[in-house]
Amino acid sequence: MARITAAARLTVRAEAEKFLAKYGFMHPPLPPDEAIAARKLEIVPLSLDDLLVKANLPPHKQAKIQAVLDINERAIVFRSGLGLQRQNWGKLHEVGHEFLPWHKELLYCCPLLWLPAHQLDQLEAEADIFAAEAFFFGGQFTKLSAEGDFGLHTAKQLAEQVYGTSYHATFTHYVEESNVPCCLLVWKPIQEALSIRPISQLGLLYYIKSDEFSGHFQPGMITENEKLLDIINSHHNDVVKHEMQIDLGQGELEVVQAESFCNSYNVFTLVIQQKGS
Ligand SMILES: [Zn+2]
Repeated sequence: MARITAAARLTVRAEAEKFLAKYGFMHPPLPPDEAIAARKLEIVPLSLDDLLVKANLPPHKQAKIQAVLDINERAIVFRSGLGLQRQNWGKLHEVGHEFLPWHKELLYCCPLLWLPAHQLDQLEAEADIFAAEAFFFGGQFTKLSAEGDFGLHTAKQLAEQVYGTSYHATFTHYVEESNVPCCLLVWKPIQEALSIRPISQLGLLYYIKSDEFSGHFQPGMITENEKLLDIINSHHNDVVKHEMQIDLGQGELEVVQAESFCNSYNVFTLVIQQKGS
């Protein structure tokens, strides 16, 4: 994944705000179909795999591509069977490629997938930032976030009541925008079959941290934290506060404040680091 500088983030935010203002999107939620219509883009029912065969990509990269934009034809092609939330995100991601001036200029002469990997990664990350900044209305998100108590409960309310975005996208943005040292852990149950309950172990898929958070986790690490397992096994559908013992990389276990929430796919844990720890 490309590292995007703070300055580049702000540039993309300014472009997303320009996009929202230009087409009269004044308040959330942002309707993705209206966003693509505003740029005269259209979703066409072609096979993504057929298009990708022509691209110069290794198979593992090809499998990760969820959508393709043909800027000359004003067409977006999605991978078939892509869930609604991911399609919604993909629409704004593609608008990002089409709206960001330096993307657009490049893409008129060269399809995205023909670019060298490092450049492709950079553009992909920028298009995702554009999608986030558009869905969360640029600087407005920070203001609304600050009105609630810090934590997943506020982020959950913003997803449900304001932005209409997925928990995953909203929690990620919440952490990335936060100046509190915090980290979002995304877990998946480890089990032989989905039907086996209760679930007794969770594996860490990945994590997202705020700029202020120090420490690392090992993706793939396994937890048997009782409180976390209780949350997933009893379907609370609410944010539950708990403590967690974590290894912050120095080999020493540290007890931190955490809160977790489970949707039907994943468990999200927000770890809040005390200043100075
Ligand atoms: Zn892209």
